[in-house]
Amino acid sequence: MDAAKLLERQRTYFRSGATKSVEFRIHQLQTLKKLLSEHEEEFFNAVYADFKKPELETYATELGILHNEISYTIRHLKKWAKPKRLKGTWINFPSSNYTIAQPYGTVLVIAPWNYPIQLALLPLVGAIAAGNTVVVKPSELTPQASSVLHRLMSKWFKEEFIAVVEGGVETNQALLAEDFDHIFFTGSSRVGKIVMEAAAKNLTPVTLELGGKSPCIVDDSADLKTSAKRIAWGKFLNAGQTCVAPDYVMVKASVQDKFLEYLKEAIRSFYGVNAKLSPDYPRIINEDHFVRLASYLSDGEVFYGGKTDKMEYYIEPTILTDIEEHTAVMEEEIFGPILPVITFDDIGEAIDLINSKPKPLALYVFTTEKETEDRVIEKCSFGGGAINDVVAHLGNHHLPFGGVGQSGMGAYHGKKSFDTFSHHKGVMKKPLWLDVPFRYAPYKGKLKWIKKILK
Ligand code: NAD
Repeated sequence: MDAAKLLERQRTYFRSGATKSVEFRIHQLQTLKKLLSEHEEEFFNAVYADFKKPELETYATELGILHNEISYTIRHLKKWAKPKRLKGTWINFPSSNYTIAQPYGTVLVIAPWNYPIQLALLPLVGAIAAGNTVVVKPSELTPQASSVLHRLMSKWFKEEFIAVVEGGVETNQALLAEDFDHIFFTGSSRVGKIVMEAAAKNLTPVTLELGGKSPCIVDDSADLKTSAKRIAWGKFLNAGQTCVAPDYVMVKASVQDKFLEYLKEAIRSFYGVNAKLSPDYPRIINEDHFVRLASYLSDGEVFYGGKTDKMEYYIEPTILTDIEEHTAVMEEEIFGPILPVITFDDIGEAIDLINSKPKPLALYVFTTEKETEDRVIEKCSFGGGAINDVVAHLGNHHLPFGGVGQSGMGAYHGKKSFDTFSHHKGVMKKPLWLDVPFRYAPYKGKLKWIKKILK
């Protein structure tokens, strides 16, 4: 791949104005939707081949989310793309004022491996809707999914409009050296810094969708059985390889035993006593991640699970208790099926622990007490989250999705995606028939009038 040549072709295409009309954008989104429907089986098979992800999860967390986002965007795009009239101010009377959304131009989307289809194509939906051309670089860690994406997208779309480029770190480096108009990166905070540094050389704006340790609080007012079930679902979905999975649980000490029993019950009800035999439980993506995750197992007492099989990159859904302070499992993003459960006596302690760590991408609190809910939401800074649920908030395209601090910058989904990939230009229009003389020199005697207006 010649990154410079590809970008030049996309830039020429963008400058031709081909992507500008709303009709064109809607047509491309319809094409993308059709591609997803017609090749559903190929996507299912590719993601299964990469890490044994079950069909239902591939549909619910990848293709289905994409269909939903595309339909919603198609329905609202005409309205979003219209200029927005805004108020004028006295100082500029008379004037009419508006913002107009314009595409940035050529956009680079870099995706991770854990939801290989969704995280490559969901930003693309927003980028197309806003009228950009796009280069998408999926992850090299899911070679089957990336290859299907490359093959199908190049068949259905012109490369000068949308190009899927396969490759690893060197490919990213080659792309990042080019002068894109916007970079949308999803991945680790470590690589996020590399992307931002590269973007800074060209003053390219970035959206960074990063990771981190998303905490989950369970207090004694919550329905423990339902809470445990929802937490186990969100944690072990995709074998824990989800950016917004609850990373660790803080449970009120007085209900810990009951909560742990319910967690165990929930895991068994999902995957049976031997999750290795379950058709619904995926594998760890590769050996490096398997080794990293297996090393966490000795950071606490295994309350449930703990079995591993290196040949299959299998790690059983695992609950850890009695965790030593400052162990890797409590310091690093887990990103796998290991759930540390620690306790608190007072909600203030839980809040302090969260605030002592980098700002998380998500935060969850299970409680029926409004005061506890308000305290946690107000006192902790986090990307987004849910009360009495986990992960599900990202399925609502009305909510912006993104991190804060170390977990990212910028947001997308629904209208927010359109805004993220657009520059909102502010324009003032004035008539020439009235020309108030205050602004012009000589200024003598005018300051007191200016002060009266600008106060
Ligand atoms: P990663 O940062 O290792 O890789 C992401 C992308 O960056 C890949 O396409 C990869 O090829 C590229 N890359 C890797 N090293 C690079 C380098 N040195 N220079 C340039 N590019 C490089 O992330 P990952 O392992 O694929 O994904 C897991 C991480 O992503 C976790 O931290 C997770 O929390 C985060 N994540 C965040 C979200 C979100 O929406 N906020 C979603 C999914 C995953």
